Amino acid sequence: MVTRRKRRKKHTFFVIALPIVLLMAYFAVNPDHWYRLTAGSERQRISVKETKASMEERSLADMQTDESVQFNQSLMLINTEYMLSEDFVAETGEYKDSGVDMNICILEAYSALAAAVKEETGDKLYISSGIRDKEHQQRLYEEDPKTATIPGASEHETGLCMDVYVTYYAGDGFLKSEAGQFVNYSCDEYGFIIRYPSYGEKETGIRFEPWHIRYVGFPHSEIIYNNKLTMEEYIFSLKEGVCYEAAGYLITRQRPVDGKVYVPEGCDSYVVSPDNTGCYIITGKKTVATIKYLETA
Ligand SMILES: [Zn+2]
Repeated sequence: MVTRRKRRKKHTFFVIALPIVLLMAYFAVNPDHWYRLTAGSERQRISVKETKASMEERSLADMQTDESVQFNQSLMLINTEYMLSEDFVAETGEYKDSGVDMNICILEAYSALAAAVKEETGDKLYISSGIRDKEHQQRLYEEDPKTATIPGASEHETGLCMDVYVTYYAGDGFLKSEAGQFVNYSCDEYGFIIRYPSYGEKETGIRFEPWHIRYVGFPHSEIIYNNKLTMEEYIFSLKEGVCYEAAGYLITRQRPVDGKVYVPEGCDSYVVSPDNTGCYIITGKKTVATIKYLETA
């Protein structure tokens, strides 16, 4: 009898306790999966649909002088396959007289994100690494080629990304802080993404970095985050020449021919960014009444 009871106890342990212990161990090793399961569960996918908006041919040079068009570098894909060209120059500006330079297209967005972190969690968001010039990246690469990316393949050379932390919580530990969780699960609302997400190592080639935020702007940040994509997957999901409708925007990825691209007609404002694969991504903010749609046959 005693032996049987002992055996039953052992059996109960394996059936009930062991899975719990294993689950706890799993979430301890992958805390982001736990947060995603709890905090991120209410997220809804954003549909990105092909649309038949009427498009007009426009020259990129002429668009530079159009007040409703803003050119920036927000959607440049940078990795070891799509490296920055030798003559790349980051468009930078100083962040709030801080002596810290960032890409000009992220100044407002970063300020809004930092303010939200302070308001929601009480923590001040700090930057451990922002823009780096090529020489700086070269030095980091020479010091530690396993961790640092080769010069030309680091987003840090564009000023579009930042490594952030709060007091006591940096690196992998950032996610253990309330601020880290806020940044990881709400930065898309400020135009940022976690560029190297836990689920994206296969596509990005870089392990999960909960501290590295990258600006891409709207609605791209929300599409990438809510649809659980990497930036690589998102950029290439946009077929060249096709116009998409998502979250109140029209988006088209265009490969210029003789300096000309096709632009959806009738948007109130446009953001145009090279994607570093030879195309431009044109994002039009629309008022439904002004958009022209082609008649479907
Ligand atoms: Zn970084």
